[in-house]
Amino acid sequence: MELLELPGGIRRLTCPLPTRPGHVHAYLLPGADGWTLVDTGIGLPDAEERWAEALRQVDGEVVRILVTHFHPDHVGAAADVARVTGAPVHQGALDYAQCELVWGNAEWPERIAAWFLSHGVPREITDELIDSGNVYRPFIRYQPHPELVGEGDRLDGWELVAAPGHADGQLCLLKDGVLISADHLLGRISPTVGLWPESRPDPLGDFLAALRRTIELSPRLALPGHGEPLEDPVGRAHELIEHHRERLDATEAALADEPRTGFELSFALFGADLKPAARRFAVAETLSHLERLVLERRAARHDADGTVAYTAPQLGRRASA
Ligand SMILES: [Zn+2]
Repeated sequence: MELLELPGGIRRLTCPLPTRPGHVHAYLLPGADGWTLVDTGIGLPDAEERWAEALRQVDGEVVRILVTHFHPDHVGAAADVARVTGAPVHQGALDYAQCELVWGNAEWPERIAAWFLSHGVPREITDELIDSGNVYRPFIRYQPHPELVGEGDRLDGWELVAAPGHADGQLCLLKDGVLISADHLLGRISPTVGLWPESRPDPLGDFLAALRRTIELSPRLALPGHGEPLEDPVGRAHELIEHHRERLDATEAALADEPRTGFELSFALFGADLKPAARRFAVAETLSHLERLVLERRAARHDADGTVAYTAPQLGRRASA
């Protein structure tokens, strides 16, 4: 793992990822009693040895671990690092509930496959989803019974800031104008914001509100989970709000009078040339935009015979008239 010194005594450890974007950052935050480690990388088979070796490069002990959200590249090696350091793992209460629901549940791949089927995704793609879900599972070794934390709590002087959207329970840390932003704020990548089974009902609305909150908090530096430090986090938050405003307009423009599923509409927004794994993110992201449009009365949702589909709002009005 590559170690980089950042201002304020913060250290960045970069962990390899077998899938795009190819890396994920963990951060070591200095404190009087030792380091607070933020995020743990994915649980590759040799994660424990990698972490033991990486932590030998820094003086002092890791005294606590925070997992910012339950996605594989952030939570994956939590149990390994806890073993190496003996430090307690902290995780958001909502995030940990979803972590158990998704990774601690052998039924989950079937559950998510059935949900995608109801959004029009063909069975060959949902079957692939079940396979890939089972392939990923061994690489996610979350720590059971973590210390549960949430918005407003403090960890060694850092304030925890809830930033739902990319994940419902996404947490950031803020101190002295430095935001450890995890996947809430990324530089070149627009964080994925998808609707998922059992997720909060309006992830895109959550994300836009969290971005407005970031603008209010006005950090001067953000240290993201992927990519380089952001010197203008407020400007980036404005850009992401504008990006989703355009994507909402494009989603609205793809609606017609006849119902279209999230799967069908994902072609209008993301094109036809996607592998199954990318298609599932495209569908989830299309659905988060559709649900926001429904709440803004710019789209209507129709539930018939176990299939969810969307139209321009006129049909909804006529149907209910
Ligand atoms: Zn990530």
